[in-house]
Amino acid sequence: MKTYFDVEGDGGSDVLGQVLRQRERIAHAMAGIDHVVAIGSGKGGVGKSTLTMQLALALERAKRRCAILDADLNGPCQARLAGLENVPLLPGDRGMALPRTLRGLGVVSVGSMVPEAKHLEFESVAEGDTHVWRATREFNLFQQLLGLVDWGRLDFLLVDLPPGAERTLQYAEVLGPAARFVLVTIPSALARGVVARSAAALEGTPNEVIGYIENMSGYYCGTCDGVRSLFGEGAAEAAELGFPCLARVPFDPRLASASDAGEPDLPRGPALRAIDEAAAQILSRVAKTT
Ligand code: ADP
Repeated sequence: MKTYFDVEGDGGSDVLGQVLRQRERIAHAMAGIDHVVAIGSGKGGVGKSTLTMQLALALERAKRRCAILDADLNGPCQARLAGLENVPLLPGDRGMALPRTLRGLGVVSVGSMVPEAKHLEFESVAEGDTHVWRATREFNLFQQLLGLVDWGRLDFLLVDLPPGAERTLQYAEVLGPAARFVLVTIPSALARGVVARSAAALEGTPNEVIGYIENMSGYYCGTCDGVRSLFGEGAAEAAELGFPCLARVPFDPRLASASDAGEPDLPRGPALRAIDEAAAQILSRVAKTT
């Protein structure tokens, strides 16, 4: 078996040229996007995807043009959230046309292209060692999506990140230094520990962490029209992180069922108010630094 040391130069692959051409494609495709905000956590199941969709809708209510890129290639949720399953990417005049919801929100998600009964498979030349290739193939596919889609003029591209603190860091590198981050946690020390790891991982990067959103911050009871504790006394304090909290969003069962149904318009209530508050915080932080 040949080792890397046996290969002369780039082995004829022009790998550097390929990387530079891909960077150019991405820069060109993203030229009309004012702000990239990645929604991460490190932890799964805390509501990253749900809040990404809700923040996009809130920013649109604030008259900003938005699109969502679902970076969770193996557990994509945005297609279902947007009601855009079975909507393939089709070629348009300047790259792949951005799939849009009936209300005009652009959403790119592998979930639109690969049915839920299937998973995304990455080919490998080394049986039993497919893991060696996967991360590379995954990030390459993500970069292809960034560079291929005709994003047009956007105020915000929101990127829904997969779980994993190290992954969060890798996406910071791929998205570039101008991308900002919002981290999502829930009122539990368990989630806080993982989100703190992601924040620590991002500390060494030039990327700005705008703040965090505490999701499932209580439970909205429709009968009594009030918010009740969900994680027990003291959980909220245990979940505090050492950087700004943009909003606390209660669990609203109507949001859970609307999300499942792909009709994520949320009725009035404390959750909607908190999401609008988080969007307003994002707008003010972005305005201060641009
Ligand atoms: P993640 O992207 O972090 O894995 P999801 O966004 O998929 O998490 O959320 C997990 C589940 O919790 C989903 O079923 C979603 O509908 C539900 N959910 C998340 N946040 C809320 C909320 N504030 N109110 C109601 N349901 C929520």
